[in-house]
Parts: sequence; structure tokens; C-alpha cells
Amino acid sequence: MATALARPKRVGMVSLGCPKALVDSERILTRLRADGYALSSDYAGADVVIVNTCGFLDSAKAESLEAIGEAVAENGRVIVTGCMGAEAETIRARFPEVLAVTGPQQYEAVVGAVHAAAPQPAQPFVDLVPEAGLKLTPRHTSYLKISEGCNHRCSFCIIPRLRGRLESRRPDAILREAEKLVAAGTRELVVISQDTSAYGRDLRHERFGAGGLRAHITDLARALGQLGAWVRLHYVYPYAHVDALVELMAEGLILPYLDIPFQHAHPRVLKAMRRPADEARVLDRIAAWRRLVPDLAIRSTFIAGFPGETEAEFQHLLDWLDEARLDRVGCFAYEPVAGADANALPDPVPEEVRRERRDRLMARAAEMSARRLAAKVGRTIEVLVDAADGADGGGATARSKWDAPEIDGRVLLRDAPHARPGDILTVRIEDADAFDLYGVPC
Ligand code: SF4
Repeated sequence: MATALARPKRVGMVSLGCPKALVDSERILTRLRADGYALSSDYAGADVVIVNTCGFLDSAKAESLEAIGEAVAENGRVIVTGCMGAEAETIRARFPEVLAVTGPQQYEAVVGAVHAAAPQPAQPFVDLVPEAGLKLTPRHTSYLKISEGCNHRCSFCIIPRLRGRLESRRPDAILREAEKLVAAGTRELVVISQDTSAYGRDLRHERFGAGGLRAHITDLARALGQLGAWVRLHYVYPYAHVDALVELMAEGLILPYLDIPFQHAHPRVLKAMRRPADEARVLDRIAAWRRLVPDLAIRSTFIAGFPGETEAEFQHLLDWLDEARLDRVGCFAYEPVAGADANALPDPVPEEVRRERRDRLMARAAEMSARRLAAKVGRTIEVLVDAADGADGGGATARSKWDAPEIDGRVLLRDAPHARPGDILTVRIEDADAFDLYGVPC
């Protein structure tokens, strides 16, 4: 006689914030799936809802509180985790009905709270977790978190307070996870952390595992580059050993892509920001990197209107950008995040000036991006397909090696009826605008 299985409890997940938070959500769901929980894509079908929050900027906090409010209203059984979990009192004061509040990376605590809120009926069988764990991103792209926390103390940032000091994962464990992901269909590994170039310092760059892999970003990137997937690095600071990463790009082992959050270019502002590495003299380094890897794409983010920033210092930043010719640029108007040391600095810049400077910087960045993309028209390049319209439309949305998922541009393809997500195609670039390229398969 067949044994009737009790319906497994269902968990809903609202994941806010950066790719690092997304990886946390994936880990939590993977653990819950292993414990026999099913997932629910809507509030109505969930026995409990986890809201993974972001607390980096005040605007992100507001968005997190709004998401918690919605989950409470729609479902009522809510567990809060993530960066805002460090502000449990604020959350509890506003939403006393929330079942549990845990901080970032407290996977065990979140899983424990789910077990308490929605105990699983006794099951003779549970679903097996897919070999690669559960993913919230498309199967062909996977984020790979290599460390957590940060040893710097940038004056505008509260991440070290929220997430603690640098804690690197063992390199052999990272490599094992990457191998599983590639075996499960990942074509692109996106390496993330708060400070990728500092990876392994806390482990004194020792060797781990049977293969003796060194806990150092150069060794790790080389090992990842041999798995056959695209390897993209985010949040790299221009320390001296970044030159070795650029050599790996020249060898074709990792993508010619560097995401370096410069934040500013004026030496006085950089000092007031307490930024790591000497970013003021980085133009020579960029020129040297481009000599070695002419196709190198550099993405960066900046803060406009940092306390005390004068118009002349902002102009210095714009002039620096003209020389640096970065490929992708994001810019935030300075936000006085509660708890950040920079809020105590003299001469805060009025909000309308901060916004106006951000808009000027973004206009300059759009011109720069348009010029750099126009230079790619006529070239034949490889792209990774993210989405396809199917045989009828014949169009597809893809990305080049110079474009990270979600934050950079796209390559929009025509006449690609056979393209499928995850395919790597060779295409000819026919046109460009300020952010995207347009092409056709060869
Ligand atoms: S390097 Fe600076 S901005 Fe980045 S996480 Fe660390 S303290 Fe924050």
C-alpha cells in the first residue's frame, strides 16, 4: 500500500539587497529544502515568510521595513533576517507580531526559527536537494561568496559593524562549490565578497585541502578559471597584487572585467573617506592594465556630495573620470547612513547639491559609456544568453564578458531563434547606444 505523505510546510522568501544577500537567501533555502520544506512563490501559499533585509543605506532600510510590513499584512507569520536584523529593536517596535529577528549570516538561527514557526510533519521521505543547492539566479549564472565582513573602516560605511571583520571561506570548499555549480550547468561564476582582493588574509594565505590550494585571490581565481566557466570578479581594491589578476585575464583564465569601487578621486576626499589602497594614483595602474589587457572593462561606483566636498574637488573627480575612461559607472548622492562616522564631518553638502552632482557625474558617465560601446561596433564577440524570446520573436538578450548580470548593459540580439538561456554564442555587433550593444549571431 502506498504511504500518503503529509504536505510539507511551505516557506516564502523575500530577498532584498545586494548579491551577497542573495547568496545568503540561497543558502537558507538550500538548508530548508534539505530539511524537507517546500517553497512558496506567493504569500498565500506560505506557512511562514522569511524577509532577508538590506540595511546599508537609509533608503534600503525604508524598503526593508516596507517589505516586512507587506509580508506581515499579507501572511502574518514573518521571520526577519539580514543586515537589518542588527536593528532588532527598531523592527520589533514597528512590527511586534514578527516571529523572530536574526542578523546577517545567522543561517542556523533562521532555520531554527522556521522549524519553530512551522514544524515539519514527520515524513518518511524528503526531497533531495539538487547537487548545486537551490538558486535564485538563472541556472547559468551563479554568485560565489568567498568571504564575509571587512577589515576597513571607510567613514561612510557601517558594513564592518553589521557584518564583522573579514572571514574568508576555505579555498578548497569554495572550489568544491564552484565545481558542483559548473557540473549543474553554471556558465558564469560571479565572485563576490566585501573586499575580494583581501581574500585569505585572515587565513594567513595558508594552503588547504588535498590539492594544497592557497587561500589567496590569485591562486583561487586561477583554480576557478580552470573549471571552464566564465569567472567574473567583483569588489576588488587596487592593491599591488591586482596586477597578478590582470595577468590571469591576459591568459584568458578569468574575464577581462574589474569592479573596483573607487568612490572618489580627490586625495583629500579619499582620506576623509578612509579608503583602502592609494586610489588617487591609480590612473597609471589603469593604463598599465590596459596595455596588458586592451579589452579590460572597468566598472566603478562613486559618491557625490561627501561631507566637505567642494565644487573644485568634485570637478577634480569629473576630470579624473575623463582620463580614466571607465566602462561602467554608478554614482550615489551621499546619504548620511545612521551610525556612519562621516556624518560627524564638518560642512555637509546640501541634499540638492549632492543630487545635482550625482546627476552631472551620471551624465558624464553616460557619454563615456556611449563612446566606449560605439568603439565595439563591427567587432565579433562571445556573449552569454540570459533570455530568449523563443522561435517566434527570434530575439534574445545576452551579455558580453564586459557586462555583469543585473548591474551592467546587455547585448540585444536579432535573428537568434535557436538561442537558449545559458548558450554562449559568437555574434557580430551592429550598433550601440549609451548602455547596450545590438548584434546578430554569426
Ligand atoms: S571596504 Fe569600506 S566601503 Fe567596503 S565594506 Fe569595507 S568599510 Fe565598507
